[in-house]
Parts: sequence; structure tokens; C-alpha cells
Amino acid sequence: MTETSAATRPLRIAIVGAGPAGIYAADALMKSDAEVSIDLYERMPAPFGLIRYGVAPDHPRIKGIITALHKVLDKPQVRLLGNIDYGSDITLEELRRFYDAVIFSTGANADRELRIPGIDLDGSYGAADFVSWYDGHPDVPRNWPLDAEKVAVLGVGNVALDVARVLAKTGDELLPTEIPPNVYEGLKQNKALEVHVFGRRGPAQAKFTPLELRELDHSPTIEVIVDPSDIDYDEGSEAARRHSKQVDMVCNTLEQWAIRDVGDRPHKLFLHFFEAPAEVIGDENGKVVGLRTERTQLDGTGNCKPTGKFTDWEVQSVYRAVGYLSQNIPQLPFDEQAGTVPNEAGRVLVDEDADGAARYLPATYVTGWIKRGPVGLIGHTKGDANETIACLLDDAPNFAPAADPDPESVTKWLEDKGIPFTTWAGWYRLDAHERSLGEPQGRERVKVVEREDMLRASEPHKV
Ligand SMILES: Cc1cc2nc3c(=O)[nH]c(=O)nc-3n(C[C@H](O)[C@H](O)[C@H](O)COP(=O)(O)OP(=O)(O)OC[C@H]3O[C@@H](n4cnc5c(N)ncnc54)[C@H](O)[C@@H]3O)c2cc1C
Repeated sequence: MTETSAATRPLRIAIVGAGPAGIYAADALMKSDAEVSIDLYERMPAPFGLIRYGVAPDHPRIKGIITALHKVLDKPQVRLLGNIDYGSDITLEELRRFYDAVIFSTGANADRELRIPGIDLDGSYGAADFVSWYDGHPDVPRNWPLDAEKVAVLGVGNVALDVARVLAKTGDELLPTEIPPNVYEGLKQNKALEVHVFGRRGPAQAKFTPLELRELDHSPTIEVIVDPSDIDYDEGSEAARRHSKQVDMVCNTLEQWAIRDVGDRPHKLFLHFFEAPAEVIGDENGKVVGLRTERTQLDGTGNCKPTGKFTDWEVQSVYRAVGYLSQNIPQLPFDEQAGTVPNEAGRVLVDEDADGAARYLPATYVTGWIKRGPVGLIGHTKGDANETIACLLDDAPNFAPAADPDPESVTKWLEDKGIPFTTWAGWYRLDAHERSLGEPQGRERVKVVEREDMLRASEPHKV
């Protein structure tokens, strides 16, 4: 292949990570005036990132966003190259050979650490691992121990609500969803009768969104309980309520729950505030038998200070839902503290020159959770993508053209390397297979878990 001027052919763009951020980036590129040809790389055999492997199975409306994303991937200017891991299957130099620019949208898939004594005990889990299990991720064990009658969930965001809700629901309540058979069998054995969610600060500081919070109360098996003494606000909290309708709605819901009588639904879900996790308590075999929390109180600004008053809660397992964390991307700078690739509006930032001017990695961009950290909803990744693509298009006239931009070259190279990559047509085959598994049971789909089974149904390389 001879070197071609990028001006006489479509811009060749690689996007690494086929979650919502990567797909919205492809959409923004195709909606621009530029002529583009895009390959969307994904390490899983199937696309859609955390929509498939994070969003809870009892949120079918959110999972349904996949249908809208189909319209993007149906376009002829974009190809899906799944089951390819950037870093091990393909490097940045190799991508540069085939593409004029590279966008990373690798998201986040691990748990942020919580450094308290006992956090590594048997029975103490990260929420991301549990979420991956119930969402049928191929790379986690098939069995999950659900033998605890009393469970603690640490954190007051939507992931904590998902974990608490799934733990408090029955397997049969979740059966109509897409959960795979091993997850249904596991949840049927779940012994949890009490789930205790702990927040270090107060109701006005909780990160729940109002809809997700109210949804807890919709299950016929879950009794949501809030202690009236946990409803407290200071000046900072009142200001937060005035500034944000969402914060105010969350506070109103929690207040209503705090003053009502406790009903008789069998599973109790307690939402505790002003209790900072201090230690996970273990027995002589290293198994979780409790959680120690320290009472906190508001300091006037909406922050909390410790009171020195400790409580021990009898629980047999602890789930920490204190945030997701992105992984370091090989050959890119990484801010370990923030868990992001340093960037300005999506341009990957290397450092500053002697005059303080930003130096960027040429033709390399980020978008989504890897760009701004693991917060925000699926919809937020759209704005992210638009900002990143605007920068890319501004820079495009100065791109060094790819040495081998022919789309067939890269797929031939992947085939020669023996990488069984999946395609967009392969997703349609897997999708049809999953739907056919659900049909006899009147379910929309049953998810395939094993990577080999996903690959078999997708038929790698076939377009
Ligand atoms: C448990 C949970 C529940 C959520 N529920 C909701 C909800 O109900 N509603 C809502 O709006 N939002 C929800 N969110 C938020 C939403 O999932 C995120 O906003 C969104 O997924 C972020 O998109 P992303 O594309 O940046 O990352 P991701 O969705 O993580 O996508 C990144 C993709 O990159 C791939 N990848 C990573 N590394 C590599 C590599 N080396 N090579 C190739 N591919 C790679 C990953 O496999 C993945 O497919 C939830 C998040 C979590 C964690």
C-alpha cells in the first residue's frame, strides 16, 4: 500500500472501546461535514460497554438505549471489531499505521479502593465484581456466595442502590429480565433478609438520582426504612437543596420514608446516613461478621466531622460501592489519582513546554468515563463525545496521514495474527441467539455468558 494523502480519502479513525462514549463519538464524526471511515475496537465479543455489563437487569428501559445505538452502528462508515484488546492484541504504533487518529473510550470497570481495616476479609466484595456477575460478564466466576442474612452496602450513589436492590429482591422477581441461568440459580439461594446501606454524610449529600431512589420502594418484597434521626440538614445542606432540584427531590423522598410506619414486606432495606465505615470486622477464620461505623455530624458547610461514637452492625457480608475506577491505558499518560487520561477537551495532554503551553499526544483523543472520570449517566457521554470530536476535526488538517489506510489492510493484519474478531453482523447473530433463548420463556432475551459461546454465536470474521 502506498502512502495516501488524507485529503483525498476519508479520514481513517480508530475508536477503542465500544461503550456509549465510543459509539456517540462515531455518531458525532458521521454527523460532521468530514468524510470518515471508522473502526470501533472492543475487547468484549459484544459492544455497548456498561449498558450491557453495568446497568442493572431490572432497568430494561435503560438497556433499551442499545436500540438507539444500533442506528449508529448500522451505518456503512463504521465497522465493529470486537474481541480485540487494545494493549495486548494491538498497540498504539500499530493503530497509527492504519489510522489517521485514535480515540480512546475505554470507560471504567474496576472498584475504587476503600482503605479501612478488614476490607480484604472473606465476605467483603467490590460492587463492580458483583455487578459483573449479575450482568453475566464472561471474565468473572460463575458462582457468587449469597449466604449472608444481613448485608452492608457502603456508598450512597446509584450503583449502591442497584446492588442493594438486587440483593433485596428475590430471584423470581428478576427472572423476567435478561439474567442468565447461573445468576437466577444464585439469586434463588440468596438468604439476605436485611440490607443496610451506609452513607458517611447526610441525605442532602447523597448522590442518588430521584428516580432510582423512588424505584426502591416499588418492589413488593422490599420495605425501605429510614431512621428519622438520620434526617438532618445544616446551612450547606439547605443551600444544596435550593440549588439542585434533584437534591431536594431526594431529600423529600427520604423524609417521607422516615416518617411513615414500617410495613410488612419481607426484605428490609435500611438507608443509614451519618455513619462512616470504620472497619470490617472478621471472625477467627477471617470471615466477615460485622461492620463498625463512626457517627458523623454536619459542620455547617455540608461537610461532616467524626463524633468518636462507634456502632457495630452484625452483617455477614459487605459490598463497597464507593465508585468505579478506570484502568491505565498502555502507552498513554495516566492520572492514577483521578483515574483518567490527562486531557484538555479530549486532546491527550502529555505535559507543558517551557513557556507553559500544553503539549498534546498527536492525533490521540479520549472521551467518556476515561476522559472525565466515572461519574454521570449514559446521556452525559454524548456531550463529551461532541466536545472531543470538535477538537479532532479542528486538528485534522495537520494529521500525519496513516501509512496503510486501506480498511482491508487492518482486517487482513488481524486475521494473519489469528485474532478471532467479531463484527457488527456478528452482534446481530448473537442478539438473535439471545432472543431465541428467551422466547420459549416469554422473556425478551437470556444473556449468553461464556466468551466461547458468545464467539460461537457471533461467528468471528464473518461480515
Ligand atoms: C453499575 C452501573 C450501573 C449504571 N446504571 C446506569 C443507568 O441505569 N443509567 C445510566 O444512564 N447510566 C448508568 N450507568 C452509567 C453508564 O454506564 C456510564 O455513564 C457509561 O457506560 C460510560 O460510558 P463509557 O463508554 O465511557 O464507558 P463504558 O460503558 O465502560 O465502555 C467502555 C468500553 O471500552 C471497552 N474497553 C475497555 N478497555 C479496552 C481495551 N483495552 N481494548 C478494547 N476495548 C476496551 C470496554 O469493554 C467497554 O465496552 C451505570 C454505571 C454503572 C457502573
